[in-house]
Amino acid sequence: VIPASCNYERPATIGDAFAALADPDAKVLAGGQSLVPMMKLRLARPSTLVDVCGIVGAHVEQIGGALHVGAGVTYDELLRSGAVVPTALAEAARSVGDLQIRNAGTIGGALAHADPACDIAAPMLSLDATLRLQSPSGERLVAIDEFFTGPYTTVLDAQELVMEAILPAPGDHAAGSAYVSFEDLASGYPIVGVAVCVEAQDGRVARCGAAVTGVGPSPTRVPALEAALLGQRDAELPAAIDGVELLAGEHADYHRHLLRVAANRAFACAADRAQGRAT
Ligand SMILES: Cc1cc2nc3c(=O)[nH]c(=O)nc-3n(C[C@H](O)[C@H](O)[C@H](O)COP(=O)(O)OP(=O)(O)OC[C@H]3O[C@@H](n4cnc5c(N)ncnc54)[C@H](O)[C@@H]3O)c2cc1C
Repeated sequence: VIPASCNYERPATIGDAFAALADPDAKVLAGGQSLVPMMKLRLARPSTLVDVCGIVGAHVEQIGGALHVGAGVTYDELLRSGAVVPTALAEAARSVGDLQIRNAGTIGGALAHADPACDIAAPMLSLDATLRLQSPSGERLVAIDEFFTGPYTTVLDAQELVMEAILPAPGDHAAGSAYVSFEDLASGYPIVGVAVCVEAQDGRVARCGAAVTGVGPSPTRVPALEAALLGQRDAELPAAIDGVELLAGEHADYHRHLLRVAANRAFACAADRAQGRAT
């Protein structure tokens, strides 16, 4: 299916991008891996595509221990960057679609699109990422667990851009993270994805982040699981994952089972990594 015709602009400055986005029917274009399929299905019919790839940042940089990932960085660029990328995020990026999607799809585009089954959202949530957003009225930092507001919706205002994601430096304890998903065979999207990040001290969990994707209206942290994991040794995953709200309807039991298995595997793997027993 061919999308309806529209204008294309590639602004040279962020001011020019904001000017182009003043048209309420204009849409931001990054890698086009979600927007173009939606245009083909006539689910989106922008008057103008405003290509922000040269504007929103193409860097993957460690600054003071924190990892800064420009919104325009593709999955593939992230994986090849040479930066120390948390394992859970690398595993999630690697599990996205196919080579073509990973070559063109961007980190900012994936987060802004806010698919309920977005792979990279789970590790970003478990790792406490902050997003730097910019609009004509200025810049703001938004914690990722306040960014998603529902299926395909976020706190982004009209004309506002995701500029970069910032992953905080690990704490003082040994840290490890993992992302485990079960994919839908037809689409490759996760039916269930769980990211766990733990910091271990004396063989026990001293800090923990846990998040799920694919099962609810938005990817989300699971505070009950995080609280239950604190102080645990590996392989002692408590039943707190059962409290996660599911959207699965008639397949709820199956999804609940996958969720338990993915959470167990992600926790065991993150704990092993934190304690140097696995890479
Ligand atoms: C066949 C196929 C398989 C896929 N499989 C998976 C999968 O397994 N797992 C997974 O997680 N995803 C999957 N995806 C989706 C894909 O990974 C992302 O949704 C896609 O990479 C979005 O990034 P993009 O750069 O292509 O964004 P675009 O398609 O260009 O834009 C997506 C949306 O975000 C907005 N936007 C883009 N960048 C910004 C920005 N910087 N600031 C503000 N708004 C912005 C756009 O206006 C648009 O609304 C798949 C997609 C396809 C087509």
